[in-house]
Amino acid sequence: MAAKPVVAEVINDGTTDFKPLRSKQYDIRKQHISETPITLKNWYKHVDWLNTTFILLIHFAAMIAAYWVPLRLNTLLFALVYYFNTGLGITAGYHRLWAHSSYKATLPLKIYLAAVGAGSVEGSIRWWSRGHRAHHRYTDTDKDPYSVRKGLLYSHLGWMVMKQNPKRIGRTDITDLNEDAVVVWQHKHYIKSVLFMAIGFPMLVCGLGWGDWAGGFIYGGLLRAFAVQQATFCVNSLAHWLGDQPFDDRNSPRDHVITALVTLGEGYHNFHHEFPSDYRNAIMWWQYDPTKWSIWLWKQLGLAYDLKQFRQNEIEKGRLQQMQKKLDQKRSTLDWGIPLEQLPVISWDDFVAQAKDGKALVAIAGVIHDVTDFIKDHPGGKALISSAIGKDATAIFNGGVYNHSNAAHNMLSTMRVGVLRGGCEVEIWKRSHYESKDINYATDSAGHRIVRAGEQVTRAAQPIATAHAA
Ligand SMILES: [Zn+2]
Ligand SMILES: [Zn+2]
Repeated sequence: MAAKPVVAEVINDGTTDFKPLRSKQYDIRKQHISETPITLKNWYKHVDWLNTTFILLIHFAAMIAAYWVPLRLNTLLFALVYYFNTGLGITAGYHRLWAHSSYKATLPLKIYLAAVGAGSVEGSIRWWSRGHRAHHRYTDTDKDPYSVRKGLLYSHLGWMVMKQNPKRIGRTDITDLNEDAVVVWQHKHYIKSVLFMAIGFPMLVCGLGWGDWAGGFIYGGLLRAFAVQQATFCVNSLAHWLGDQPFDDRNSPRDHVITALVTLGEGYHNFHHEFPSDYRNAIMWWQYDPTKWSIWLWKQLGLAYDLKQFRQNEIEKGRLQQMQKKLDQKRSTLDWGIPLEQLPVISWDDFVAQAKDGKALVAIAGVIHDVTDFIKDHPGGKALISSAIGKDATAIFNGGVYNHSNAAHNMLSTMRVGVLRGGCEVEIWKRSHYESKDINYATDSAGHRIVRAGEQVTRAAQPIATAHAA
């Protein structure tokens, strides 16, 4: 019998509300337990005991029981292989196939991924994908079901072991999942699927294979599931906490090789949140992403198709913009001199008079600089710089005597104290200011003027005219 699609109410933002396939309806008028403070008397009501049992209590019991169950080599090898398979069920199945539709899978591959995914004991595909879509849509907000802003431990475990208000989780569209027969079947038969794939199957393999029923139960089943859970939970916690942000730093997702190693390649999470429907997490061939390698391999075997990939051009644009942002932040920490428009306008006569009074003022390209503290450090010697005091040194600074370096122009700008009435650069600014036009200077994201090498105002734009010009 074909699975009956669940009719979901369409909301005016184009999404559909999440309707559990089979569960008690909650009364939205009643106050939810999560809205009451946790006290000594009611703490146990805040705990989601079903989840806590599945992700903590059973495993702790298994750790104790392991004391009496010797670990056999065959069982260990099987547990490791099964760990990778059930982990892939989450990363390649739940995450990249169903939550993000980053590729298409044939029916046999879907059945395999739904089965091993159940073996990792992380909820049904439908429940998991719905939460994950909300996480992407509402990252770091109150509607993000595992927002790292509520704490690292909350994003790792807290959101599952504590009861959550269903009203709080953001809406997402899962109509495609409701039409997927494998997803619907797994959701309806979830408990049976989990018991068989997480416990029954490893027991059968180890028991029938080499007579280690107890080892299959403890190591292949419970402790292996615990390891897969803790590893994949790191995508919600560690991947939002540790590492770099090469594509966008406005939200918490981060890239780190440690997270990638722990999560079968889901560690390039800053990239993933920017390009969620890309079947890759790692875009470089040398980065660790066994989930990507598996999907690629399945494609070669004819099991997967339509692998989605963003154009490299789009990826590099994002990377460049983030680099630009970092440059702007770095630029704003440096001293570029007082902006020209904030400097007092001084007449030539005042400039000469102040220099005569003992102020070491030098005019270059219409900008007045106070070089008092610099005279003794001048690399070209005291005499040359002193000879320019009270004069227009535009030509001698720009090649008349010595063609000063970019660094010299930069340093000079930090000494500026005024602009000359009638000085060349300032006239441009004054005119455009008067006409209320924006000056066509390149500015950074904070509106600060970008001074590129060789573009300082004190740099004469044209070669200084010389007497022997033909
Ligand atoms: Zn995330
Ligand atoms: Zn995702």
